Amino acid sequence: VMDEVKNQTSIEQLKEWDRNHFMHPTSSVRDHQENGAAYTFTKGEGIYLTDIDGREYVDGLSSLWNVNLGHGRSELAEAAKEQMETLPFSSSFNNYSNEPAIKLSRKIAELTPGNLNVTFFTSGGSESNESTFKIIREYWKLKGQPQRTKIVSLQKGYHGVTLAATRATGMDNFNSFGTSYAPGFLNAEPYLTGCEQGDKTHPNYENSIRGVIEREGADTIAAVIMEPIQGAGGLNVPPEGYLQSVRDLCDEFGIFMIADEIVCGFGRTGKMFGVENDGIIPDFMTVAKGITSGYIPLGAVIMKDSFRDELAELTGGVLFHGFTYSGHPTSCAVGLKTLEIIEKENIVPHVKKMETVVENEFSKLKEKHPHVTNERCAGLLGAFDVFKDPEENIPFKPEEAAAPTLSKLCGDLGLIVRPIMYKGANTIAFAPPLISSKSDIEEIFNIFSQALTRFERQVNS
Ligand code: PLP
Repeated sequence: VMDEVKNQTSIEQLKEWDRNHFMHPTSSVRDHQENGAAYTFTKGEGIYLTDIDGREYVDGLSSLWNVNLGHGRSELAEAAKEQMETLPFSSSFNNYSNEPAIKLSRKIAELTPGNLNVTFFTSGGSESNESTFKIIREYWKLKGQPQRTKIVSLQKGYHGVTLAATRATGMDNFNSFGTSYAPGFLNAEPYLTGCEQGDKTHPNYENSIRGVIEREGADTIAAVIMEPIQGAGGLNVPPEGYLQSVRDLCDEFGIFMIADEIVCGFGRTGKMFGVENDGIIPDFMTVAKGITSGYIPLGAVIMKDSFRDELAELTGGVLFHGFTYSGHPTSCAVGLKTLEIIEKENIVPHVKKMETVVENEFSKLKEKHPHVTNERCAGLLGAFDVFKDPEENIPFKPEEAAAPTLSKLCGDLGLIVRPIMYKGANTIAFAPPLISSKSDIEEIFNIFSQALTRFERQVNS
């Protein structure tokens, strides 16, 4: 009993310290102050998480779309330990190098399509996008086109929160925070397929990527960036052929295409990279998250060797860009081990198979629960919306907070998912670890179903 009391005190103590000292990212400061943390996790095992009060949950979002191999993989811990005991850190500035970074860049070259063979390492996703913008702008400057600075991205795209990455992020809520200001970023309307192929009769033509490029002047545009499937902005899947139309558009005007593979990369969508679903090869890929299964921070910019060769020719001087942790040996060792496991355990074909299970579960869910609509998935990246009346296309009112309510109900039943309420949508997004089995997915959907039953009772009362 004494032990229990002691334990209880320390839990209360932790909760108090959390409120007093730990500011949570992308969270309500007031809610945190008034109610404390929503969840405090203390342990993870496979697809399961345990919180500080001993409750168990399915990690239905792979934590932050990143713990793709599940929790508690001792091989990843061993890789970090071994590297830390051998050479914990080594700089890559001034042409220094280290073995894990060399091997990981080689491995990435093997896995990526086309001649995306050269990697610049960072510490995460935002830094990867930010680095890509700068490297591309430097290239255009050296090419004698210094006016080519503008970056076109898509509304509802998410590319991170450093200054330039925030501006590439096509969401007002992130952009208004801290008066994020970086000139030269344009947010086009997503998925206007016909427009990207030149259909000027479309009423929204001027907001399409092509419309924006024409308005601004193609010779001022450095690059277009987009996620193969939009994650944080609502799990928006482009219509078939859209990525190809953007690829063609970029080729037409000699503009670089950047694929932000930070969520989609390394198997999430049932292919090694998201762009492979559309059979296109971008000029740059940015990756992070799944590259280490979230076990340690790491990100990367992957570029074509032809681009690197040209850059080498154009610049005799130093690449004045790099982070202390670019090519961190311990992060790279964990990354290398992660990619080995993905291959050894045939994770990518497994994810493709699980897509069918998700689709099957979706049709059962829709039969039972009338508010569910717009279900979509690629591999183990999926979402559905709830509408007050899907048939009449009547959404829930924002003040009804349908998605957060449903997400909370899922949490109460032991499933962590992501509610998204951007621009009137009520979306529940999920991205369970890529090791999830058929029965794991059935368990997730079983909880969805129970949560929806409770939700329906609340809505109808
Ligand atoms: N790009 C995408 C598609 C993301 O989902 C994220 C993070 O969620 C980022 C970029 C930013 O990555 P980070 O938070 O590691 O800076």
